[in-house]
Amino acid sequence: MNFPPEHQNYLTQIGLAGKQLGYPTYVVGGYVRDLFLQRPCKDIDVVCVGSGIELAKQAAKMFENASTVSIFHHFGTAMFKVNDLEFEFVGARKESYRSDSRKPSVENGTLEDDQIRRDFTINALAISLSPHDYGTLIDSFEGIKDLNNGIIRTPTDANITFSDDPLRMLRAIRFATQLNFKLHPDTYNAIKTNRERLKIISAERIHTELNKIIMTPVPSVGFKLLFDTGLLHQFFPELSAMQGIEERNGIQHKDNFYHTIKVLDNIAQTTNNLWLRWAAIMHDIAKPLTKRFEGSLGWTFHNHEMVGAKVAAQVFKRLKLPLGDELKFVQKMVALHQRPMMLTKENITDSAVRRILFEVGEDIESLMTLCQADMTSKQEWRVKKYREDYEYLKERMTAIEASDQLRNWQPPISGEIIMETFGIKPGRPVGIIKDAIREAILDGIIPNNYQAAYQLMLQKALEIDLTPIK
Ligand code: ATP
Ligand code: MG
Repeated sequence: MNFPPEHQNYLTQIGLAGKQLGYPTYVVGGYVRDLFLQRPCKDIDVVCVGSGIELAKQAAKMFENASTVSIFHHFGTAMFKVNDLEFEFVGARKESYRSDSRKPSVENGTLEDDQIRRDFTINALAISLSPHDYGTLIDSFEGIKDLNNGIIRTPTDANITFSDDPLRMLRAIRFATQLNFKLHPDTYNAIKTNRERLKIISAERIHTELNKIIMTPVPSVGFKLLFDTGLLHQFFPELSAMQGIEERNGIQHKDNFYHTIKVLDNIAQTTNNLWLRWAAIMHDIAKPLTKRFEGSLGWTFHNHEMVGAKVAAQVFKRLKLPLGDELKFVQKMVALHQRPMMLTKENITDSAVRRILFEVGEDIESLMTLCQADMTSKQEWRVKKYREDYEYLKERMTAIEASDQLRNWQPPISGEIIMETFGIKPGRPVGIIKDAIREAILDGIIPNNYQAAYQLMLQKALEIDLTPIK
């Protein structure tokens, strides 16, 4: 196998360092997989039959601009960086597991011991770096065959592999989604069998894999696998609960799980913003909680957007996703996701458009992107109509924004000006005047400028018996 020319020198030198120590040395894992798939990869894992830490030290000496070697005695690993490459070294090892932890006990082993402990056959490929057989592929578990056939399969009994380290179940689905591969039936069934083992995995590791699935070009592939294997139910029951269609009096509602992952696929085509993709996942999350059948109205989901914003917080908390601006953004998108569509109805006033620009502020583009992704009707004419209405709304927004600049709205008259003008302290009257000015601007009664707002302030003050002090 040929390495990329820009990696050649590093890999040759590492092989020589291994020879100096008497260690057979290999490049292994994701790097080899990505080499065959022609995906760029800058993390290079090296395994040797010997001490990974010693090899790292020896290899780092070969390169002038290598970073200092970081050593992790506890794991028996060491790493350094050279330019944009990151090399990680480990001695070949054999692992055994206990049932309550994904941390194995470890002893030295052969290359094959090391390959078999890896998660998937496509991640267990090794290429020798030792001078005497440099470049030779060691494919002990038919990894190349699986690569060519697009199959995710474990090197050894899938039930044991997943029970040992349940995180691998999520990795299997993540790789299937990223690479557009299929799960081998044994792998698929073992995930089903071992799904409850996921409970020993930390929320951080779960969300890291989940985010990788979310960031793929067609994330629904992963979500369908998560659902069908029952893994989704373990860590995201709010989402799995959305699956299913109920019928009453001959009236059905749509399947909100499949709708949601379709919306996610749609939005994945227009944004790489992880949190906007999360907003797509959450936008209808409270539909199961708010679902009612109301006679002539049929199925309703009153207030699902507000309840959904609350559910989003619970999910983020449980999955240990960031609870700051990221969550706030997702909640805002969920809470407001219905609004743009409501504004496409006929007879919508400029003031209604102004109000949404005012409320959403700088996130208006994101909200419109979500809203567009949310159009998933199976009826062509309906989607077409939605699109046209939506384009028209966008034009109106642009026009109103251009004249009124509401996006980062600052009141033209501040509380300080009000207090100074009337010689009053902070209190109710200040709020009354500020609200009146804001409402008048949003309703289009006065323009968004100082002059007009000042006049309105004086007028409003009269109504509540305030007089200017000068
Ligand atoms: P990516 O970098 O895209 O996440 P990767 O396959 O390189 O993919 P890493 O987490 O970087 O994944 O791990 C490097 C290699 O270590 C893998 O290719 C695999 O051989 C092995 N590995 C990683 N995690 C596990 C695990 N949980 N169980 C078994 N082997 C693993
Ligand atoms: Mg990697």
